[in-house]
Amino acid sequence: MSTMTQAKPVFQKADRLKQLPPYLFIELDKAKRKLMAEGKDVIDLGIGDPDLPTSKEVIARLKETVDDPANHRYSMTEGMKVLREAIAAWYAKRFGVTLNPDTEVLPLLGSKEGIAHLPWALTNPGDAVLVPDPCYPPYRSGTILAGAEVVPMPLLEENGFFPDLGDISQKAIRRAKLMFLNSPNNPTSAVYSLEQLQEALDLSKEYGFAIAHDAAYSEIAYDGVKPASFLQLPDAKDHGVEFHSLSKTYNMTGWRIGWVCGNAAIVAALSQIKSNLDSGIFQPIQLAGIRALEAGDAALQETIAVYQNRRDLIVNGLAKAGWNVAKPQASLYIWTRVPTQESSMEFATRVMKQTNVVITPGVGFGPSGEGYVRMSLTLPTDRIEEAVGRLSKSLS
Ligand SMILES: *Cc1c(COP(=O)(O)O)cnc(C)c1O
Repeated sequence: MSTMTQAKPVFQKADRLKQLPPYLFIELDKAKRKLMAEGKDVIDLGIGDPDLPTSKEVIARLKETVDDPANHRYSMTEGMKVLREAIAAWYAKRFGVTLNPDTEVLPLLGSKEGIAHLPWALTNPGDAVLVPDPCYPPYRSGTILAGAEVVPMPLLEENGFFPDLGDISQKAIRRAKLMFLNSPNNPTSAVYSLEQLQEALDLSKEYGFAIAHDAAYSEIAYDGVKPASFLQLPDAKDHGVEFHSLSKTYNMTGWRIGWVCGNAAIVAALSQIKSNLDSGIFQPIQLAGIRALEAGDAALQETIAVYQNRRDLIVNGLAKAGWNVAKPQASLYIWTRVPTQESSMEFATRVMKQTNVVITPGVGFGPSGEGYVRMSLTLPTDRIEEAVGRLSKSLS
């Protein structure tokens, strides 16, 4: 007779993972993979990842530095001083904002990493975090993983996709430790004015919570628009931080390099979290990042021209087919109302089946994204033209 007892389950998923919002695109992803497996010519306008290459200068700098054994060891959590100084210099030049590179700048392994870890540094279980809805998902998931409570702030078109700050409940706002804001905005592509950011700053002073402004798209703007930095407001540094990234500005998503800057105490708290989790950015990537910040302006202007042309192709092409789409002033996205009576998921699913073009249902970014879809500008121009042709046919 066997004496074996019933094996115990190896593990049970932690509750914090079970609390994350469900992934809404399972069916849509499955349908997309099926089309691809069938050999269909799928055009994916769902992905927000630049197709343009990193500039040759930046790659050359990586190659120059990668052979040096001094660059092969652990780097420091706080990043190389030369990188922090280059970030501060870039900030002064671009925004006229002075930053202390030793205390007010912290390099990150991509800004997503810092964004998702920030609630670990600033909140306790039961605290509230004010999060835009729809939004870039890490604001929400980082808050949940830290055990704090997400309080959604709906972004409505009639308010220029800026949260209605007067609409946040008193109960929530008194428990708030942190507010996330994002301009230029993903997914809505809204660009907030300094006056709007000032409103948020005033509220944070009144109730005592920190502001984290995500400016990952500050340089990707069209028609000469120059999006503002939250830190341009006079005493913003007393109340918040701003996230930046080389990912979109210099086509470096795979390199994993960004930063947070502003309030020194918040920067130090995030650095303390990070010192327990990671061991810095590979130094050749930091050195190449400096090259991007110092010499990347010409490449950036070319990048903007490419995206602006694609934006115009989509908006003008769809207008001809009767789909009224507003031209975004910034970001890599077109955010527009579903042109039929369908939900965003129904519309995106049907369009994919009929045209093999993938667009993202707005509801995937939060409940207030329902009724909208997002299309990304990160495909080669000929593919964008092909997609517009197919979408136009499916509408007419
Ligand atoms: C792409 C993106 C980022 C940048 O992410 P990295 O981790 O720096 O690559 C940050 N915020 C938003 C809103 C984004 O869309």
